[in-house]
Amino acid sequence: MDEFETIQRLFAPLGRSEPGAFGLGDDAAALAPAPGQDFVLTKDAIVGGVHFFPDDPADAVAAKLLRVNLSDLAAKGAVPRAYLLAAGFPADLDGAWMEGFARGLGDDIGHFGGALVGGDTVSTPGPAFFSLTAIGEVPSGTMIRRAGARPGDLVCVSGTIGDAALHVAHRLEGRAVQGAEHLERRYRFPEPRLALGRALRGVARAACDISDGLVADLGHICEQSGVGAVIEAAKLPLSPAAAASIAADAALLETVLTGGDDYELVFAAAPDSDLAALSAITPVTVVGRFEEGHGVRVLDGAGSALKLSRTGWRHAVGTKEAGA
Ligand SMILES: [Mg+2]
Repeated sequence: MDEFETIQRLFAPLGRSEPGAFGLGDDAAALAPAPGQDFVLTKDAIVGGVHFFPDDPADAVAAKLLRVNLSDLAAKGAVPRAYLLAAGFPADLDGAWMEGFARGLGDDIGHFGGALVGGDTVSTPGPAFFSLTAIGEVPSGTMIRRAGARPGDLVCVSGTIGDAALHVAHRLEGRAVQGAEHLERRYRFPEPRLALGRALRGVARAACDISDGLVADLGHICEQSGVGAVIEAAKLPLSPAAAASIAADAALLETVLTGGDDYELVFAAAPDSDLAALSAITPVTVVGRFEEGHGVRVLDGAGSALKLSRTGWRHAVGTKEAGA
């Protein structure tokens, strides 16, 4: 299959809902934001052996590529509109893998919304790599920033923390975990919190998605907001699998605090915010407070500061990156 056939057969159907994609048959797409909306643009790239395991199923790799980008849109309060894909497939790649990738991407775009409006596929002598640009929309001027948290605001997180990092620790370091299947599913298919993100417009003073680890990503909000934060480890929302894993090996608490790939949201909310309304969408837990100063402090159950040996390792091979 040559490149034109690949694009037409596998990827053109993913753009059908967007007239400005011109069936992926033109050099470029033409889009305007809906009246009164801003475009919100983000990009994340993933590389085989770095951000996903080479034997991860093709549809899971595609889902993860889309979802890590959707997670950034969610953190900004945006609704997905369009995507641009660059795909580097190894020259010796089996055609069935490429089809599985396109199917996984199409299924997820169908589920989460938006349309593929362009991109490029190339053959590479290296590992598979994929880069996606995601374009979302928010009412003009309402994109939630990392800047804006104030001392006294609540530190809130969505869902549960640490499942994906425990999967990586299990797979790469052989750490013993409980509920391994749940942890693996959370790693492969993170759930972008799009509905919660929309509800955070006008409520969250600052927000970020948790891709690099809770401590590191909360640190990004602190840095951009010019504040510090303190979190209480005992308040972390944990899945039954993560709680059981930590109960059996207390050292895994640090993995949960500093590991990446959760794709939950961490945000600042005023103390009188209606968190029950947010929790009706996705469970939200208050894990601490913003304070004067800088950096993130973590307290254990006795109120003593935990010393963390690392604050944010990203993705499968533990490459330290300044991710967005
Ligand atoms: Mg992010």
